[in-house]
Amino acid sequence: MGRVIGIDLGTTNSCVAVLEGDSATVITNREGYRTTPSVVSFHKDGKVETGAAAKRQGALNPERTSFSIKRKMGSDYRMKVGGRTYSPQEISAFILRKLKKDAEEFTGESITDAVITVPAYFSDSQRQATKDAGRIAGLNVLRIINEPTAAALAYGLDNAQPQKILVYDLGGGTFDVSLIEIGEGVIEVLATSGDNYLGGDDFDERVADFIADNIKKQYGINLKKDVVAMHRIKEEAERVKKELSSAMSANVNLPFIAKTKEGPVSFEMEFTRNEFDRLTKDLVDRTIIPVENALNDAGVKKEEISKVILVGGSTRIPAVQDKIRSIMGKEPSRSLNPDECVALGAAVQGGKLGGMLYPGSPADQIVLMDVTPLSLSIETVGGISSVLIERNTTIPTRQSKIFTTAMNFQPAVDVRVFQGERRFTKDNKLLGNFRLSGIKRAPAGVPQIEVTFDIDANGIVNVSAKDLGTGNEQSITITSSSNLSEDEIQKAIWKARAFENEDGEKFNLTDEKRKAEGLVKRAEALLIEHKDDWDKSRKKEIKDEIGRLKRTLFKHKLFRNSEEAASNVRSSQQGLKALLESHKKE
Ligand code: AMP
Repeated sequence: MGRVIGIDLGTTNSCVAVLEGDSATVITNREGYRTTPSVVSFHKDGKVETGAAAKRQGALNPERTSFSIKRKMGSDYRMKVGGRTYSPQEISAFILRKLKKDAEEFTGESITDAVITVPAYFSDSQRQATKDAGRIAGLNVLRIINEPTAAALAYGLDNAQPQKILVYDLGGGTFDVSLIEIGEGVIEVLATSGDNYLGGDDFDERVADFIADNIKKQYGINLKKDVVAMHRIKEEAERVKKELSSAMSANVNLPFIAKTKEGPVSFEMEFTRNEFDRLTKDLVDRTIIPVENALNDAGVKKEEISKVILVGGSTRIPAVQDKIRSIMGKEPSRSLNPDECVALGAAVQGGKLGGMLYPGSPADQIVLMDVTPLSLSIETVGGISSVLIERNTTIPTRQSKIFTTAMNFQPAVDVRVFQGERRFTKDNKLLGNFRLSGIKRAPAGVPQIEVTFDIDANGIVNVSAKDLGTGNEQSITITSSSNLSEDEIQKAIWKARAFENEDGEKFNLTDEKRKAEGLVKRAEALLIEHKDDWDKSRKKEIKDEIGRLKRTLFKHKLFRNSEEAASNVRSSQQGLKALLESHKKE
C-alpha cells in the first residue's frame, strides 16, 4: 500500500493531509492554498472546474455551479446542467479527484488510498454516499471517520493525558458536538450530537439579506431574485463577516451592483460587529441544545470536561466563542488550527491503517473508537421501532435480540431495519428489509427468531435473522443505501474517467488556442512594425499564414473531438511560426 491521504471533505472548504514521517502535514494545493473550496463549476463547453476557479465561476455562472453539495449527500437530489445529470456523489467526486491530484503533485507519488471524514451526525446513507464519491474519484476509501474524532486524534497525539474533551465544530454548513475521552492511548467518542443544517453559510445569508434590504431601502431595487447580484452580495457578506471576527466594524463595498434608469448603482455601508451579532444571535443560540444533548447522552457533567476544542472556520466568530465560554464555564482551547486539524487527524488514521506509523510510536498506540450516530431498530407489531443498537454505542459492535411471530402458523417474517430515534418506524429512516421464510409451523409466540445487528468500523450495518428452530438464516448488508445502485456507481466511475480524458483534451485545446491567438497577434504587430521595410511578397506570405491559422481557430468547433481540434490548431501554427523565425534570423 502506498501513502494514505486524510481528507476533510467539507461543506465549504476541503483539506487534505498526509503523513510525513510520524506527523501529519497539510498538502498545499496547485493554487498554493492549504484548503480548497468545495465548489464545482460546469462550463458550457463541457469543461469542469473545481476549487477556487469554480468559486470564481460561481459569481458569473451560479446556475452551472455547485456549492455546499455535502448538504445533499445521500439524498435524491440531482443537478441538471448542460444536458447531463449529476448525483451529489459524482459532484463530490470532482472535489475528491482534485484533492487526489493535488496530493499526487505534492508527494510526487500516485495515491489511491484515503481516509475521509464526515460529520458525526451523518446517517448511514450519507456515509455510504461519501464512500461512493471516493470510489467514483478513483480512491480506495479505507475508512470513513467522524470529523470530531479526527480532530481529537490530531489533538490526542500532543496531549496524551487522560481527559474528557468537548469538540465544538462549527464549519461552513454543519455543526457537530462530540464528547471525547482520551486515556491510556485510546480515544473514545462518548457521545455525538449536532445539526446538519447549521454553519457559516447561514451567517453569510443573514448578512447578505440585510445588505439586500438596505439596497432596497436606499434605491428601491429588490435584488433578492437576481441570482448573479445575490452571489456577489453573499461573497461580500462572507468577507465582511470574517473581517468582523477581528475588527469591531467593517465596510460593505459593492461597486456597480445594480442598474437604474439613471445608470449603474454602487452600494457602500458601514457594518458593525454589534449589528452582526444581533442578526445572527439565534444561529449562535441554536448550538446550545446539541451541546447539552451530547453531555446528557454521555451522562457527563460540564465540570468533568477538562477542555473545549474549537474546530471549523466559524468558531473564529467572537460571539460563538463567547457563547461556548459561557455555557461551558471555561476558556475554549484552540491549540489546533481549526481549518486543518480534521484532515490532520484523518491522515494520522490513514497512516495507521496503511502501516505507515513507526511501531510503538504515540500515534500508533492510539486506538480509535467510534460510535454509531443514530439508533438502529427493527419494526415490530404496530409499526413500533424495537431498538437493537442505541445511538452512541461504540463501534464495531454486535447485538442480538430474540423475536417471535405474531400470528399462528406464520410461515415467514419480514425484517425491516430502521435508523433513527423515533418510537414509530414511520418516522425513522428505512435502511433495508428482507424476509426470513421456512419458519416451522407453530402457534404465535413460539418460534424463536434471533436478529443480529453487526456494525463494522466504517459504520456499515449487517443484519441477520436466524430461526433457532430450524437454523435457517437470512441476512443483508446495508451497503448501498446512498441512493446509487452498484450499476449507477460503475457508470459514474466510467463517466468520471471519461471526464479525466476530456479535461485533459480541453486543457490542450484551450492551451493551443491561446498560443495560436498570441502568435496571430505577434505576426500582426510585426506586419505593422515592418510595413515599410518588408517587401510585398513576404507580407503576403505572412498574411496568408495568419488567415489560415485564423480559419483553423474559427473551425475548431467542427472537429469530432477536442483532441483532434487541438492537434489541428497546433499544426496550423507551424507555418506561421517558421516564417516568423526565418525573418527574425535575418
Ligand atoms: P470550514 O468548513 O471549517 O472550512 O469553515 C468554513 C466556514 O468558516 C465558512 O463559512 C467561512 O466563512 C467561515 N470562516 C472562515 N474564517 C472565518 C473568520 N475569520 N471569521 C468568521 N468565519 C470564518
